[in-house]
Amino acid sequence: ENSQCTRTHDAAIDIRRVRKSFGTGANAFVALKEVSAAIRRGEFFTLLGPSGCGKTTLLRLIAGFDQPTSGDILLDGEDISQLAPFHRPVNTVFQNYALFPHMSVAQNIGFGLKMQGKSKAEIDDRVDAMLTLVQMQALKSRRTGEISGGQQQRVALARALAPAPKLLLLDEPLSALDLKLRKEMQIELKRLQNETGITFVFVTHDQEEALTMSDRIAVMDHGSILQIGTPREIYDHPKRRFVADFIGDINFIEATAVTDGGQAGARIPGHGFVRLEDDRTLADGETMTLAIRPERVEIVPSKALDHIDGPRNEATNELTGKLVNVVYHGTDTIYHFTLADGTVMRARTQNNRGFAPRFSVGDAIGWRVDPSAISIVEDAA
Ligand code: ATP
Repeated sequence: ENSQCTRTHDAAIDIRRVRKSFGTGANAFVALKEVSAAIRRGEFFTLLGPSGCGKTTLLRLIAGFDQPTSGDILLDGEDISQLAPFHRPVNTVFQNYALFPHMSVAQNIGFGLKMQGKSKAEIDDRVDAMLTLVQMQALKSRRTGEISGGQQQRVALARALAPAPKLLLLDEPLSALDLKLRKEMQIELKRLQNETGITFVFVTHDQEEALTMSDRIAVMDHGSILQIGTPREIYDHPKRRFVADFIGDINFIEATAVTDGGQAGARIPGHGFVRLEDDRTLADGETMTLAIRPERVEIVPSKALDHIDGPRNEATNELTGKLVNVVYHGTDTIYHFTLADGTVMRARTQNNRGFAPRFSVGDAIGWRVDPSAISIVEDAA
């Protein structure tokens, strides 16, 4: 028990083996299977996953709107499961903002403080600071029913931050905004989090939003957390097929592990051998799925067509393929090519040095990938 305390000492929120099912008996639905995560103090932590994966359910358990079926949620080391939502030092910003339309911007921001019984002077000071923080001073007397969506979003944030919670929960707070405003608010939210130092737990199904804003991301699917890591870890080293596929574009290749000679590698049927850097322990002959980002694949001229069924150059991780499509995307070009077994692969190159395709559809090509760009992913959910 003691060692567990030390292990999670820095955790603002410690989610321990939390399960949540709705309904009973044959009708029971398990929304969270067994979820554990230690969210650090001052961290921008994102729950990312498709609709229905359990993000909102987990957020509601942290907020106290619902109780876990089993497991514990600790806040700064203390079990908060018995605390009513409004007694928790936690605030939530919802997708629809839930502002009071007939009240002014300032009244909305001060609402929580008033409910806490703070003095008028204290409320005025705090509201003033919050108006400055979200850059809404000029509109403080306007009713919230008479301001734009982006401005409402700022007011909702200011209202949630006003009581200085230890933890701010945000459930898809930007999804109602148009793309341009959403991009602006992403930067704004990140700034607010930096300036206040408050721990943010942010829910989104938008992978790009998660990558740009988060310190760490938990990728969820079907009531489980599949991987927790920094945006770079999640993007560059996905551990599950679902994680690799959900975030960005990716190639999958079925391969067989080769461990002899002390060099970890994979045999791709009909295409020879690629070296791997992934640190997981492999059994010789084990089948596995490799995941490679298209921007890490380099297309090179094929020197000899007769190598198409055999290894080309084991030293450079160079293999062969056949180009089937070249798609120009303005900023980059995507080359589609096939492997001997019909697997379709994509390589992406930036067009920043001018677009001049060196390869044509139908060409036999070589392709290269650095060992560091190859992840071994588990198929199981
Ligand atoms: P979205 O992005 O669509 O909001 P989500 O990842 O937030 O999805 P949740 O709202 O957590 O998903 O729902 C997870 C699953 O639990 C869903 O299948 C949902 O239907 C189910 N669920 C949620 N609340 C209840 C409830 N009160 N009773 C029964 N089932 C529920």
